Amino acid sequence: MSTAHITEQRSPRSPEELRSLAEQAGRDLEEADALDVLRWAAETFGHRFCVTSSMEDAVVAHLASRVFPGVRVVFLDTGYHFPETIGTRDAVEAVMDVEVITLTPRQTVAEQDAEYGPRLHDRDPDLCCALRKVQPLEEGLRGYDAWATGLRREESPTRANTPVVGWDEKRQKVKVSPIARWSQQDVDDYIAEHGVLTNPLLSDGYASIGCAPCTRRVLAGEDARAGRWAGSGKTECGLHL
Ligand code: SF4
Repeated sequence: MSTAHITEQRSPRSPEELRSLAEQAGRDLEEADALDVLRWAAETFGHRFCVTSSMEDAVVAHLASRVFPGVRVVFLDTGYHFPETIGTRDAVEAVMDVEVITLTPRQTVAEQDAEYGPRLHDRDPDLCCALRKVQPLEEGLRGYDAWATGLRREESPTRANTPVVGWDEKRQKVKVSPIARWSQQDVDDYIAEHGVLTNPLLSDGYASIGCAPCTRRVLAGEDARAGRWAGSGKTECGLHL
């Protein structure tokens, strides 16, 4: 396994340059192996590239660390996570060759409750996600030109067209989804082969893990994200829209 040759950029790239890079790589890397996609991102962006992880599992962080030891892994601590998710984050930091960066919202849960009333997630989950996920990620990604996600096309209809490399128009960044084409079986096989850390809740009936108040176990026959904001009509938190 060869690691990426990292060279740091001397001057920032313009949004036009980044968009053009994303469009070209989107065409060139559509069929590429996940490691080759991540190697391209590391060599193209150096430390202006990071991986984001919900700590459902550490598959993309693990893949990235193989080609880019010390890669930054950004985790959003909304204040509403299951203890198992925080434990997975801590374990990833302890055992993997990555630098975990934890982002937090501007307000604690108590401060948010004081301003908006308790259980905003029940009354206005879009606002709650905007305050606790979208805004902190936007601020946390300011120093990066490219970010990687663990999005997969088969996870849900809203993710069916996820490009392997695409242009994140909203944030004016290159968005890399190296396992977009992977099936759940591919993920399971990779975890088993490499002993990758996973959130213990995955073996307790949860298929997609977000904040505790908005996540339930999935039922037989449901898609992996059916347990997120169940019954509300909401399917995405806004990070990937
Ligand atoms: S997933 Fe739920 S608790 Fe978490 S930020 Fe969104 S609405 Fe709030």
